[in-house]
Amino acid sequence: VKDVAVYYHPLFLKHETGEHPENKQRLVAARQAILDSDLNVEWVTPEPASVEAIARIHERTYIDTVRSTAQGGGGWLDWDTAVSPDSYDAALLAAGAGLEAVERSLADGQRAFMLVRPPGHHACPGKGMGFCLFNNIAVAAAHALEERGLERVMIVDWDVHHGNGTQDAFYDDPRVLFVSIHQGGHYPGTGRTGESGGERAAGSIVNIPLHGGEGDGAVLMTFESLVTPLARAFRPQLMLVSAGYDPQEGDPLGGLRYSEAAFQWMAASLVRLSEEVGAAGPLVFLEGGYVPAMMAASIVATLRGLGGDIPDFERAVTEDERADVLEAIEAVKPHWKGVL
Ligand SMILES: [Zn+2]
Repeated sequence: VKDVAVYYHPLFLKHETGEHPENKQRLVAARQAILDSDLNVEWVTPEPASVEAIARIHERTYIDTVRSTAQGGGGWLDWDTAVSPDSYDAALLAAGAGLEAVERSLADGQRAFMLVRPPGHHACPGKGMGFCLFNNIAVAAAHALEERGLERVMIVDWDVHHGNGTQDAFYDDPRVLFVSIHQGGHYPGTGRTGESGGERAAGSIVNIPLHGGEGDGAVLMTFESLVTPLARAFRPQLMLVSAGYDPQEGDPLGGLRYSEAAFQWMAASLVRLSEEVGAAGPLVFLEGGYVPAMMAASIVATLRGLGGDIPDFERAVTEDERADVLEAIEAVKPHWKGVL
């Protein structure tokens, strides 16, 4: 067994979106970059998720809508979320990758990268949106909780957009700690610091909205001041990551400025934290990222981080970055007494 598995299926390329930033070239470029690298990963071809597994997160009527839209030749779930004839099958495979990775990781500790599309973190229980059909990472977390009896799962979301679908799925579930670092005020409009979990799960949702132009300093401070102490206190049994590459400097769909090294550092940091607290994973799910070549290079960097290769990462934190992270800490501090 190699250290890191990459889950990929050729049907992911058959989820046709036309002239759209979320298109198959993203995966074509990423797969080629991994093959061209010196990385020695294990390629895994996933099986489709069952409807029962999807239904742990999504309403049956919504699952039926995705299937019938695909079978009817395709269409649009909203103004930017396309369904093509093969999209339903591709979406089941994308979710299936996460289920298999959870099983493998709980059995032998293997870390994995889900090189999948359609992406998932905007998909809500009752509707798809934001290029996402089924919420792959939420389906994986629900499987770990309901099928494998885990009691604590941590999800870190570093896509430039807020992971509203994942937040919705677990808003009042104390078994899931969801930490999202994103550009505030950007699509889909949620992800404010005050959204911190329901009555039964106060403090289980941690949102860190950043301002446009911020970058690696914010990442560094968030990991050191929030992610690390929260993980040590929560002690997750499984670590999941929604990895978007749209906060990278130069991505047309975001205004943050992460460097390629930041992705490697974040992945390596989560490897170290997972080992420290005894969590399986990290299992990393591809979400956004819209400059294929740039995203591909950063995915290779992420895989290096998952392999345990920690880059030098000295970054100054700007005053604006510090203010944003401190505001996020203040919002959840009452729920984490003695931790933050
Ligand atoms: Zn995104």
